[in-house]
Amino acid sequence: MKFSKFFAPTSKEAPKDAVLKSHILLSRAGYIMQQSSGIYNYLPLGYSVIENIKKIVNKHMQNSGANYLNLSYATDANLWKKSGRYYQFGDELLRFLDRKENEYVLAPTHEESMVDVAASFLKSYKQLPINLYQITSKFRDEARPRFGLMRAKEFIMKDAYSFHSDEQSLDDEFLNMQNTYCKILEELNLDYRIVEADSGAIGGSGSREFMVLSDAGEDDILLCTKCSYAANVEAAKRAKKTCANERPEGDASKFKTPNIKSIEELSNFFKVDSFYTIKAIVKKAIYENEQKLVVFFVRGCDELEETKAKSACKALELIDIDENELKQHGLIAGFIGPIGLAGVDFYIDNELENEENMICGANEIDYHLINIKITNFNKQRYADLIKVQKDDNCPHCGNKLDSTKGIEVGHIFKLGTKYSSSMNATYLDENGKTQPYIMGCYGIGVSRLLAVLAQTKGDDKGLVFDKKVAPFYIDIIIQDIKDNDQTKYANDVYKTLCDEFGDGLILLDDRNERIGAKLKDYELIGIPYALVIGKNYLEGKVELINRATLEKELIDASDISKIINLLK
Ligand code: ATP
Ligand code: MG
Repeated sequence: MKFSKFFAPTSKEAPKDAVLKSHILLSRAGYIMQQSSGIYNYLPLGYSVIENIKKIVNKHMQNSGANYLNLSYATDANLWKKSGRYYQFGDELLRFLDRKENEYVLAPTHEESMVDVAASFLKSYKQLPINLYQITSKFRDEARPRFGLMRAKEFIMKDAYSFHSDEQSLDDEFLNMQNTYCKILEELNLDYRIVEADSGAIGGSGSREFMVLSDAGEDDILLCTKCSYAANVEAAKRAKKTCANERPEGDASKFKTPNIKSIEELSNFFKVDSFYTIKAIVKKAIYENEQKLVVFFVRGCDELEETKAKSACKALELIDIDENELKQHGLIAGFIGPIGLAGVDFYIDNELENEENMICGANEIDYHLINIKITNFNKQRYADLIKVQKDDNCPHCGNKLDSTKGIEVGHIFKLGTKYSSSMNATYLDENGKTQPYIMGCYGIGVSRLLAVLAQTKGDDKGLVFDKKVAPFYIDIIIQDIKDNDQTKYANDVYKTLCDEFGDGLILLDDRNERIGAKLKDYELIGIPYALVIGKNYLEGKVELINRATLEKELIDASDISKIINLLK
């Protein structure tokens, strides 16, 4: 490809809203163009990296035995009504009508469509197990699209769905997919961890996320400092917390605590560790057809984990409320406790079950209860609600946990029969009995991976891609296009390399620009190597630049085999 004919609109300016390095660099280097909020066009450079990522994903998916296909983006809303997700997905699901008023959704994921395909053709256990996958655009009307391709409204996902007749087969495929994802991320040379994840509304017995470690990540992950335990904070567990500080003593009683509302005030007032106090967090829980207040109780020293809280009360969403709303429901901010609490749904953290000598609100203004035993509550009231933090202890080995940030690039799920049961998608088993498929689903954010590579590999000069994903292998830069010797040599090398590797992988910067501008573009675009043909050519030397290290080496102009070997 000759740069003079190549569409790579590089720029010094970053988009106004861009805060992440990846967003800034991909925009400045002419990889992507924002069309509107959360919607991006991939320009030639960006699309060629996307294609290279897809190639790697495809290679490993096909080695794993999965079938490549492509389902429609517009999806009949009836399929979504059948699974029930039409009503549960909320505003992220884009719904629209055609001219005949048939209703559609733009697929944010394809469980329903894949189940529809399976149910149409997979009638017998003999056809199972099978894994079907695609690499297509998804649409989610994200509340806050941000960070460029990291959280877009329209994005490219690899999504696979497996169909089984028994749990063992699902377990085997889950592991097969986990190993396949490891191979993909290793080939992309990314520093990642597999973490235990929340199964949330999807349910099922297993869910793991693939997190690339990065300060730019939106996810908090806990990693054991000793063993291999790793989990998303949404699903992280800990060994039960203990406290070395003295436990309060005495009989249960009501105590006047005038205007003592916060946990800090409470533990100072009674001179006890906040470990022995109980904190109430009140949220409004949103359900398909109703809304209600729900109270969550955790230790004073703990924080509520919202995803866990949402699962505990099975809400679609939890939203914050103010003191007025509390009052309307007869709740007194600062004095809410589980004992005698009536007329409102509430949940207590598992670690508080059977705890003694605790201090909690008395549900009466200016009063707390002391030396309370948390017992005699219905089993269903207890749930895992706490946010595990750095320095808590590992649930497996008891050593300290560390916390870090990660970017979710993949997520694998055991779905069980959730979709096949609700959509009545069945096969005939060995005994001729109809059974719902047992399913797994497996996603990778292909366009997010482009952003992650830019984020984690880029430097202050620009993008850095290795040969496997880079848009070109090498940029042959002519310092002075009016110099016939330089130009002729550059064109000869260009032709030789194109013959060896294909025209699409070699870039010849033949533009009538200053060398400084050409080198800046080279560094910004992030091609692994550059060959600069400049004034040293008079002495038979040309300069080879390694983009990752920015090291420069003068090599003999006649030694083209050195370059060929380097690029092989
Ligand atoms: P997140 O927690 O980041 O919102 P998710 O859990 O909703 O993601 P999944 O439904 O598991 O995402 O989708 C599979 C993969 O698709 C994710 O692991 C991620 O890499 C990618 N992905 C999800 N949402 C987006 C988005 N808005 N923009 C780009 N990629 C996305
Ligand atoms: Mg996910």
